[in-house]
Amino acid sequence: MFADLHLHSYFSDGTFPPEEVVARGVQAGLGTLALTDHDTMEGCPRMAAACAAAQIEFITGAELTAEHDDLELHILGYFIDPENQKLLRELARFQIVRQNRIREMVARLNEVNVPLHADAVFALANCRSPGRPHVARALVQAGHCATHDQAFERFLKKDRPAWVPKAKMSALEAIELIHQAGGLAVMAHPALNRADHLISALRSAGLDGLECFHTKHSNSATRRYLEFAERFHLLVTGGSDCHGKSKGRPLIGTVKLAYEHVEKLKQKVAERKLATINGHK
Ligand code: AMP
Ligand code: FE
Ligand code: FE
Ligand code: ZN
Repeated sequence: MFADLHLHSYFSDGTFPPEEVVARGVQAGLGTLALTDHDTMEGCPRMAAACAAAQIEFITGAELTAEHDDLELHILGYFIDPENQKLLRELARFQIVRQNRIREMVARLNEVNVPLHADAVFALANCRSPGRPHVARALVQAGHCATHDQAFERFLKKDRPAWVPKAKMSALEAIELIHQAGGLAVMAHPALNRADHLISALRSAGLDGLECFHTKHSNSATRRYLEFAERFHLLVTGGSDCHGKSKGRPLIGTVKLAYEHVEKLKQKVAERKLATINGHK
């Protein structure tokens, strides 16, 4: 039994509908899938239904854009209640920030004589949580760039003409928000954020796990984070971070997390639920 706990759909910057994510997961032989779209749970009900129909396990998730000490961090939330009002309110707030950022990026493109309309980006994104990949696709579609990568290189990367910094929640806020929604908070792809020195502090703030297995982690990075997880008593997660076809070939199935790690996640959620019930007695 294997799991992929890091997947994106077209409800953020992936290209597949949730049903296709599930179909490809089944094809890859996975028995458990988590949907972790950026700053949204919009795709979770459809993903849950598709997993139920395919008789595989689904874990509700989201990937929250956060920061700590001026460093961007992605905090994965697992087993979060999709109807938790506080979490939904906060996500809605950050979705509006993302939408305004698209307008700002388009305005900056217009300033350097690239004619693009924000509505073209919104129509293409067709979700509440748009990001730079959607602007990149719109630039390619309008013929201003040959490829998605070229759009990032010329316009969207940090310090390029259309780069706009993104307001983020603090990592501590993200952890608290996930916990109050009944979920577990996990640091995504630590090797990509150079955040090793923050792991201990975030653990003290309630971080539950580390994404040790990730497409962009080398074998030595994976070993390093498995050691961190053991040292700091953090749970171990992993996933492909598949974005569909937006970054070349679909990655689903390339990272397979052993089911024993999923068991440990479920155990911790159950223990925390019990502690909450007892605490309220
Ligand atoms: P955003 O959250 O709007 O800043 O967009 C982040 C997304 O853009 C992530 O899914 C990244 O994988 C993608 N991305 C970031 N930098 C690049 C790059 N240089 N080339 C292609 N994609 C990128
Ligand atoms: Fe993404
Ligand atoms: Fe990420
Ligand atoms: Zn991701």
